[in-house]
Amino acid sequence: MKKAEFYNKLDNKKVQCLLCPHQCIIQENSRGICKVRKNFDGELFSENFGKICSVAFDPIEKKPLYHYFPGKIIFSVGNIGCNLNCQFCQNWQISQSSIDDYQYLKNISSDEIVSQAKRKNNIGIAYTYNEPIVWFEFMLEIAKQAQEKELKNVMVTNGFINPKPLDKLLPHIDAFSVDLKAFTNDFYKKYTFSEIEVVKKSIKKIHQSHKHLEITNLVITDLNDNKENFVEMVKWISGETDRDTVLHISRYYPTYKLKKPPTSVNTLIEFHEIAKQYLDYVYLGNVNLDSGNDTICSNCGKTLIKRKGYYVKVIALDKKGCCDNCGNRVVKVL
Ligand code: SF4
Repeated sequence: MKKAEFYNKLDNKKVQCLLCPHQCIIQENSRGICKVRKNFDGELFSENFGKICSVAFDPIEKKPLYHYFPGKIIFSVGNIGCNLNCQFCQNWQISQSSIDDYQYLKNISSDEIVSQAKRKNNIGIAYTYNEPIVWFEFMLEIAKQAQEKELKNVMVTNGFINPKPLDKLLPHIDAFSVDLKAFTNDFYKKYTFSEIEVVKKSIKKIHQSHKHLEITNLVITDLNDNKENFVEMVKWISGETDRDTVLHISRYYPTYKLKKPPTSVNTLIEFHEIAKQYLDYVYLGNVNLDSGNDTICSNCGKTLIKRKGYYVKVIALDKKGCCDNCGNRVVKVL
């Protein structure tokens, strides 16, 4: 446990957390919406500091990041808590838990995490599985140490964070995989308990900081599979970031509180075709198809990377990540 950053003290030993836009006002001995920031005696604490529950060496493609060290592995760490309550959360057992009701947390130091990550062929540390925003203090401590050891830091996030904490993270995070869960505020309010405008601002800020950015959109049957909204979303990504921002269109399967049937494959294929009109690199995830996973140079059309599941073969990139046919810069590679 550690004293939290970004909060104000209020009257009667209440505090207001300023880490994310919920800006919870928290009474003594109570927690905020994320369930992992608690008021003790009028001070706010991060209860999940120095604790961990999920650890794995994952393919970087699993984050998903396709244009960032393709084919490499990354030490992936997760915790409990989340500032959203998505009804379709795949990791709800950890994201919706507090320290009182989750038994499998282990104590660990930032030194130990960094030394475990310092393994041959591992590029760095990914903060993932649950929402790392609510692990802010510990993530930042680990990330600073990881940088000193020349490890990369990757954040897999919902982007629902206030601007000041995001500014503090940006110098220490090298790549972001951000979920853009839909393109209407109605969806964000009803199915995630958050708001879209903050997420859009975070995406723009990350893009402006020149950090590596990829976006994932989970297409859910009947809830966010409206074609007009999807077109609006890909136009926005292209206009507010760049044509070469990578978009992952991901297939939904019923989970947690949502029982809608899995996304139709035809919808995914149609959305893939639409997105490619506005963005250079669009991939299909969570679905086993022969197309939609290879990287094709947007300039000359040469196939640069072939993918099947997590099998990745880089076939036509030079050491700088440029197409070996036309020199177009496409990915970041070792
Ligand atoms: S981080 Fe948690 S406690 Fe802080 S404002 Fe967000 S939900 Fe509330």
